[in-house]
Amino acid sequence: MSTQNQQLIDNYGRRVDYIRLSVTDRCDFRCVYCMTENMTFLPRNQVLSLEELNQVALAFTELGVDKIRVTGGEPMVRNNIMSLMNSLGSLPGLKELLLTTNGAQLDKYAPLLKQAGVNRINISIDSLIPDRFRRISRVGKLEKVIEGIDAAIAAGFDRIRLNAVIMKGYNDDEVLDLVKFSLDKGVDIAFIEEMPLGQVSDHRREDTLCTNDWVKQVIEEQFTLVPTPSKTAGPSKYWQVSGQSSRIGFISPVSHNFCADCNRVRVTVEGRLLLCLGNEHSVDLREVLRDPDRNFEDLKQVIVEAMNLKPERHYFYDSDHEQPVRLMNMTGG
Ligand code: SAM
Ligand code: SF4
Repeated sequence: MSTQNQQLIDNYGRRVDYIRLSVTDRCDFRCVYCMTENMTFLPRNQVLSLEELNQVALAFTELGVDKIRVTGGEPMVRNNIMSLMNSLGSLPGLKELLLTTNGAQLDKYAPLLKQAGVNRINISIDSLIPDRFRRISRVGKLEKVIEGIDAAIAAGFDRIRLNAVIMKGYNDDEVLDLVKFSLDKGVDIAFIEEMPLGQVSDHRREDTLCTNDWVKQVIEEQFTLVPTPSKTAGPSKYWQVSGQSSRIGFISPVSHNFCADCNRVRVTVEGRLLLCLGNEHSVDLREVLRDPDRNFEDLKQVIVEAMNLKPERHYFYDSDHEQPVRLMNMTGG
């Protein structure tokens, strides 16, 4: 059967029009909630080449996906990443090319990313105190990330959003400072609840989890939050501080299940099409890409059929259900 004009619709009637494409499992940071201290990364032959990543992206856009977020690991550590960004930026049918990065190399790359067609950027920043930033990222330099944020602002992306994971005992006293920082810079900020993706080495996630209801309460002690009508398709709920252009988002996969609105799937850098962040249901696209007897049309057909595997929802921190063993850098955040 031809896949022409076919769309991606799962068994629960949800249309998938957004993919998160992981371009590496590697990173120049080792954030405590994302990785263990000593990581082993994938050998090169298990990782999709830039051409294979582009083929996957093309297949999805031909199936109606019009938004791609490039992520990782840290996308900017992938060799020749800009050649991939340039080709993704010119994919027919793509309305939005997005990037999630730790910001450490944006001082160098921001203008090139803008030129390549990246519309919006998310930059992760969990602390504004240099020593603490280093403790959370284990190796990162706060100063480089702030330079990266400034370079992104200067490059003129449609929107820039900071991402922060708030954890008890690490940075739970910095919620207001992070909000003020985003207001000062005129960018958005989203607070993301820590998800139980894989076992990390420095803490038990149950001990550090801060719900977004709590984070929001802290913000409301100082600011009046007005709900915004704009809801980008997906899990972020945005609020505005009255009189300010920045928006404050809450991504609450743990405390508020938003699976019913899910419009996305992920492709790991091994070419595993992951149908849900919190489940292991997946299909191996690398096998199809590397099979000399299968072609591009077969790749699209496998993607279409994979939609039948998309589970209804995740069950984070629910002891009646198995929790993912995959760390976030292997998942594609
Ligand atoms: N390296 C890039 C970065 O840090 O922005 C992109 C990849 S990272 C895996 C994407 C996002 O996932 C980051 O904002 C990070 O804070 C978040 N993240 C990583 N592990 C997480 C976890 N266990 N729970 C919630 N968010 C997590
Ligand atoms: Fe690297 Fe991003 Fe994971 Fe931090 S969250 S270790 S920056 S991939």
